[in-house]
Amino acid sequence: MHEQIDHPCVQHKLAIIRDVETGHKRFRELATEITQFLCYEALKGIRTREVQVETPMATATCRKIDTDIVVVPILRAGVGMLDGILDLLPTARVGFVGLYRDEETKQPVSYYERFPPQTKGGTCILIDPMLATGGSTIAAVERLKEAGAGQIIVICIVTCREGLEVVERAHPDVPIYTASIDDHLNDNKYIVPGLGDAGDRLFGTPHQ
Ligand code: URA
Repeated sequence: MHEQIDHPCVQHKLAIIRDVETGHKRFRELATEITQFLCYEALKGIRTREVQVETPMATATCRKIDTDIVVVPILRAGVGMLDGILDLLPTARVGFVGLYRDEETKQPVSYYERFPPQTKGGTCILIDPMLATGGSTIAAVERLKEAGAGQIIVICIVTCREGLEVVERAHPDVPIYTASIDDHLNDNKYIVPGLGDAGDRLFGTPHQ
């Protein structure tokens, strides 16, 4: 399952973040703002429980979130989406996963992993701005499943049909929320039109 969030507020910000003239400060702010909208949508189905609340007038039947939430950025670019989610969910725990591509096998290999205990049985939100080939997403979801994650939700800012298909084939139980499904991957596996290298644009590093 995947969903592209077509809300004009998201699409307006996406137009600015894509712009080659947008500098790293604004790029970071936009990554945070877009992530908040995507996260808001992505969490619409999470488990809640009924609670009774005394208002100044009467007892109101309300709902509160009833699951541990663990946010997991894929290093490094995923960190650029973290603040946006923590603004919405200040009590969420944070795990990290770092992956590199083995040049021989071409497979992603985990070089860093630290998940809080609430990962087991919790709702885990995996974040990475660009879901391109899907390799890192598949590997990170596997790591989370091995850690016993309850529900896993992927949020990315931009993806493409090719990446979506491989992730959905590998993990049909994991929903993916995005602001855009772009046209294609180029020979260097960058999303086109995309927004370039999200890590470099977020952190102001020159493109290698
Ligand atoms: N990673 C990026 O930062 N950009 C892409 O287009 C693809 C992967």
